[in-house]
Amino acid sequence: MKRSTEDHIYDLIDTIDQSGNPIFITVDKEWLRKHLAEQAAIQGPFSGKIIAVKDNINVRGLPTTCASRILKTFHSPYDATVIKKIRAAGGVLLGKTNMDEFAMGSSNEYSAAGAVKNPVDETRVPGGSSGGSAAAVASGLVDYALGSDTGGSIRQPAAFTGTVGLKPTYGRVSRYGLTAFASSFDQIGPITRTVRQSAELLEVIAGKDPLDSTSADIPVGNYVRALDEDVKGLTLGIPWHLLEKGVEKDVMDSFQDAVKTLEKAGVTFREIELKYADYAIAAYYILATAEASSNLARFDGIRYGVNQKMDGGDLFSTYAENRSKGFGPEVKRRIMLGTYVLSSGYYEAYYARGQKVRTLIAREFATLLKDMDGIMLPTTPTTAFKLGEHVNDPLKMYLNDVFTVSVNIAGLPALSVPGKPGKGGLPVGCQFIGRAYDEGTILRLGHTIE
Ligand code: GLN
Repeated sequence: MKRSTEDHIYDLIDTIDQSGNPIFITVDKEWLRKHLAEQAAIQGPFSGKIIAVKDNINVRGLPTTCASRILKTFHSPYDATVIKKIRAAGGVLLGKTNMDEFAMGSSNEYSAAGAVKNPVDETRVPGGSSGGSAAAVASGLVDYALGSDTGGSIRQPAAFTGTVGLKPTYGRVSRYGLTAFASSFDQIGPITRTVRQSAELLEVIAGKDPLDSTSADIPVGNYVRALDEDVKGLTLGIPWHLLEKGVEKDVMDSFQDAVKTLEKAGVTFREIELKYADYAIAAYYILATAEASSNLARFDGIRYGVNQKMDGGDLFSTYAENRSKGFGPEVKRRIMLGTYVLSSGYYEAYYARGQKVRTLIAREFATLLKDMDGIMLPTTPTTAFKLGEHVNDPLKMYLNDVFTVSVNIAGLPALSVPGKPGKGGLPVGCQFIGRAYDEGTILRLGHTIE
């Protein structure tokens, strides 16, 4: 490693220590010393580039806390596949970023490590659940971060902080080593300063992985080169009916501004109808909580976590005690909701119905995308809200995901790119939804408006 990268890293650590904003959960100087030495020996496309990693992605030798007390004392014995690939490309991993506990939330306030403040306006949330990763990029600490997106957790924080967030197609990036929240929705993706950096990082992390059977055996595109192609002649659909109510004026202005820029560049727009969009939030919160309740059943607090011992009680009361102490309120709410929708007598009414709605939504997107290259929507209905504004109102928090969850339901790729800022310079995100495995086109569109 060049001496300068090392110096830069140590300067960054000082800045992080002094910032008073809990953007990172773990930055380990000792671990970094060894890591820097290892990476210095590797010449690759990411040599000298620094990446922040969301704390639900495993890095060998560092804790993975998922911002939860139940993972206290857990150190990962292995690397997630995306981390292996970044190491092989020469990249330097700065540390683990703050998030909503187990990636459940839209504001980064549901974190055992404290709420992250939005670097653009510290009275506001950075979005969530990848709020730490987005804030690490927005504050200028790093150009590259990894997030995970189950219902919007890469795109929404990117929109709130003025960064670029890409949720790849389900199956594009291996989930091996990502702590599962809702396995049929989860995808790892980049949060970066520019669209080009997003393309660069996607090229490194994408691809088939024998350790994740849901990863697809489809060749990885040359996403950086795709940016140089023209957008002229592309057709995009806009479901204007969804934007009639509940969208802030600043968001609407910024969206229309982006549409004009693309029109000038030769993109054709078509009005479309998304008939099932109104059911997306309900379907998502049934299916995602069902999967979460099942995935989180493995955390018993015995090998690591809050209590770790039997304390003379029986097995079940030990589990109950560890889980009561270990999980925060939002995670408990999700486990209870998920258990309820899966329980006998309710399964048909909720879970099975949710699956049917999922199929309808996925089919509707697939049909529309036969005739067009993508769909455009704002990333969020509002700009970043104030810290504390929604924290005690889960429904309001869930409604913030109205434009992002359908994409995960359908498994499609989507990119959030900063548009014209709103009042007081608050960032606004513009979202491009693409055909499955066609990340190249949405990156190219995003590059045109940045
Ligand atoms: N805000 C959504 C939720 O709370 C999405 C989370 C995510 O994408 N991880 O479930």
